[in-house]
Amino acid sequence: MAAKKTMRSRLSLSARGERVSAARKDVEARGETFYQGPSGIHLSAFPPKERWDDWVELDSRAWPRREEHHYMLVPTTCFNCESACGLLAYVDREDMHVRKFEGNPEHPGSRGRNCAKGPSTINQVTDPDRILYPLKRVGSRGSGEWERVSWDDALDGIAARLRAAIIEQRQNEIMIHIGRPGEDGFTERVLASWGVDGHNSHTNVCSAAGRTGYQFWMGADRPSPDHANAKVIYLISAHLEAGHYFNPHAQRITEARANGAKVIVLDTRLSNTATHADYWLSPQPGSEAAINLAVARHLITTGQYNREFVRQWWNWEEYLQTCRPELPATFEAFEEVLGTLYDEFTFDYAAAESGIDAATLREVAETVAGAGTRFSSHSWRSAAASNLGGWQVTRTLVLLSALLGSIGTEGGLFANYWNKFVPKPIHTPPHPGVWQELSWPMEYPLAQNELSFLLPQFLKDGRGKLDTYFIRVYNPVWTNPDGMSWMEVLSDPEKVGCFVALTPTWNESAYLADWVLPMGHASERHDTHSYEQYDGQWLGFRQPVLRAARERVGETVTDTRQVNPGEVWEENEWWIELSWRIDPDGSLGIRQYHESKASPGTKLSVDEYYGWMFENSVPGLPERAAKEELTPLQFMRRYGAFEIAKGLGAVHAFPVPQEELADVSVSPLGRVYTSTAKPPNPNIVPMGAPVPDEQGRRAVGIDVDGVVRRGFPTPSGKLEFYSSTLAGWGWPEQALPGYIKSHVHPDAMAPDQMVLLSTFRLPTQIHTRSANSKWLDELAHTNPVWIHPSDAARLGVARTGDLVRVQTDIGHFVAKAWITEGIRPGVVACSHHMGRWRPTSQDDGQRQMMATVDLVQDGDDWSMHKVKSVGPYASSDPDTKRIWWSDTGVHQNLTFPVHPDPISGMHCWHQAVRVTPARPDDKAGDIAVDTAKAREVYQQWLEMTRPAGQISPDGLRRPTWLMRPLKPHPDTFVLPRP
Ligand code: SF4
Repeated sequence: MAAKKTMRSRLSLSARGERVSAARKDVEARGETFYQGPSGIHLSAFPPKERWDDWVELDSRAWPRREEHHYMLVPTTCFNCESACGLLAYVDREDMHVRKFEGNPEHPGSRGRNCAKGPSTINQVTDPDRILYPLKRVGSRGSGEWERVSWDDALDGIAARLRAAIIEQRQNEIMIHIGRPGEDGFTERVLASWGVDGHNSHTNVCSAAGRTGYQFWMGADRPSPDHANAKVIYLISAHLEAGHYFNPHAQRITEARANGAKVIVLDTRLSNTATHADYWLSPQPGSEAAINLAVARHLITTGQYNREFVRQWWNWEEYLQTCRPELPATFEAFEEVLGTLYDEFTFDYAAAESGIDAATLREVAETVAGAGTRFSSHSWRSAAASNLGGWQVTRTLVLLSALLGSIGTEGGLFANYWNKFVPKPIHTPPHPGVWQELSWPMEYPLAQNELSFLLPQFLKDGRGKLDTYFIRVYNPVWTNPDGMSWMEVLSDPEKVGCFVALTPTWNESAYLADWVLPMGHASERHDTHSYEQYDGQWLGFRQPVLRAARERVGETVTDTRQVNPGEVWEENEWWIELSWRIDPDGSLGIRQYHESKASPGTKLSVDEYYGWMFENSVPGLPERAAKEELTPLQFMRRYGAFEIAKGLGAVHAFPVPQEELADVSVSPLGRVYTSTAKPPNPNIVPMGAPVPDEQGRRAVGIDVDGVVRRGFPTPSGKLEFYSSTLAGWGWPEQALPGYIKSHVHPDAMAPDQMVLLSTFRLPTQIHTRSANSKWLDELAHTNPVWIHPSDAARLGVARTGDLVRVQTDIGHFVAKAWITEGIRPGVVACSHHMGRWRPTSQDDGQRQMMATVDLVQDGDDWSMHKVKSVGPYASSDPDTKRIWWSDTGVHQNLTFPVHPDPISGMHCWHQAVRVTPARPDDKAGDIAVDTAKAREVYQQWLEMTRPAGQISPDGLRRPTWLMRPLKPHPDTFVLPRP
């Protein structure tokens, strides 16, 4: 039977192949581009790019009449997750309005495909509740009283404050806090031009721990897995939802599965991805590193590892020299040690920790071993982001690739900087001369990113204050743990003098702002971006599509407000204008970085900014554009993306060209240094390794068997099995890949507690930005608590839909139960996407998903009760009268205290909770929080840290080779004198 099935599918594949070839011939004969598309058949794929100026579709609603619509197709980039997939805006040529968004087949990462959130951009653009004009608060903070103001009022008011702070040397009172960056480096450069170390991100509540595990191994904070060509894919996350690069990875994983790849998913919850896995492992939360180490031990003890790769590319010599100096410095001696290092991690041990039976773990280990160099993997949010020591989950996962030698191989793992391209901008301001302690505090010298979620506690500690605080596509009250502490500090003008919300939509934080300034969605702003999604490099271009459309028909547009709805502005023009108003005569040295080069003394336009970049720093783009008689900017406006290179291969093994090897010195362990200033191509040559030798020479490569090769941007130049950084900065016990027992390990919990998984995304929602995407809201609008039938029976939760009360360390929330076998017994889960709210004081808001709540503060005690659910309402969109849902879930994050990991700085999201049936007065969505208790938990976790002042080996605040999105001047790294 199985054989017959295979034969049938082979026949159908071959028949399909013939149809595709015939279609290709037809299309190419017409001189048009052939897009095979997801269906494999041209007709159902994509509009050929030759017809993007006048694409005709029939109006389905006019049927049976034949009514044509003529569209101009203009590319942009989706802004609804970090994947940056290509979109095509369908601009109606009759009235120059965007009618819909589809995939852009010219985009190398997404290849014309999108998830549900891409086409839903049209809902965001036409959202009847969006913010269209600049607003200024007129009542007290949070009172909900606003007046419409001009952009000039907003710019002048904010610029005056910033100018005063800069002149008075209060640079550290300025901060820009970014949610979804959506671009590479623009905001960082604005801050640098102001001399301000004020970049704050959301990364430490998102992916910092995942990044840390990669960083310590290979000096790159992200992997670029070649899923499409893998034989085995090992995913530690609900990958396509809670992982990274949803659609670009999903389509490549799907391709690999079609080619017979095995998929292993470690996720305590049955995610959509897990349903497609060959092995779904539902481990005890926090035990994932123990599983990885059992697999690694199996590879080691059975000799199923790539000896030659380990010998060449691990820093085993440094390990022996430092940790086992009594042994001979030979690979054989290292192998002997390696053979015993993980003795503890037997399958039985991992089974006891994880609850997965030992036989299954052995089978998984054998499957991994069978992959050889075609083993791809990914660990991102999920377990890494949820557990104390979660970064070791990633580090132990990379250990598997490092053992198999599946790094830089077809079907293996690449370093992100090999496949990500960041073009040089027209101006590069110098590093700021100040260090922001509120984001990079002394206690966390190894933190991967800013300690953003501790800002309220730091402000309460009196470590500093903010004169002007911007949020940009960010909603700290809703996104972070302990949101009520955020409310307390954002309401206090002594702690935050001026609060500016740059946002396209209302959110829980913007209600507390002094200025609410409308910014653009995906089709209303400029950005460039490049992400590591396969072994290739591409650059994408987000643009205001109506600007591009009008330019295509010969009109001139000089400001995105001329084409955007209302007075919606794009950020880049806004930052340039703001910078000019801070420094109108250029005397502060700021204006020079926002001036035109072509016409000195005038303002830099976005056309010049991107035109210069595409002309001067994107290899191959000018030549490609010239073939179509376009300028590079015109090319990017027409196609939206450009593939710079593909099949880069194992960059770490590239020999360093002789011309770069002038005046070199070589360390005893083979690190090669040069006195030449800069690498020739910063996008290929590792940039993250500014660990100079004693004479200040730049690391250029690593001597491997007598050949100087590029190596990795780590201190040693090799893959760091042993991290001298962790050892030297106070954590010698964590210097090797290992297993840290989680804060929710069974040993750490009371018998009546359960683990709450709170990190998983819903694939059809966008964190805090999709509340008025009507299509997405209809698909997903609530977040019940997943509970196993055995737990439901034990706790007395009779049926799905019954209310449960979930008690955390600082409060509780009330939600509906969903009784399901899709979760491990002893564990409950709740998606973080839901529970959007607006207080009764606010008339404005997103009425499709935000419930109206009564929010009460009594000293440190806060409570929230829903007073009105969502429902149908009249608006400019007739569909809002058809809203049939009323349950919008619960905002669980409010009830979580902060859990900063002492090494990575990541908030460890898992909570130890007590789940009970709700009390008679409880209502769905109820919240209670005690912020005094939240402060106690913060102080307990702070005690776990080893501050730089006590452990720094070189008198610096932080190792210089670790990344920092905005790096201040090297002098600022020096620890202040006690
Ligand atoms: S995966 Fe979906 S949300 Fe993310 S960029 Fe692509 S289309 Fe947009």
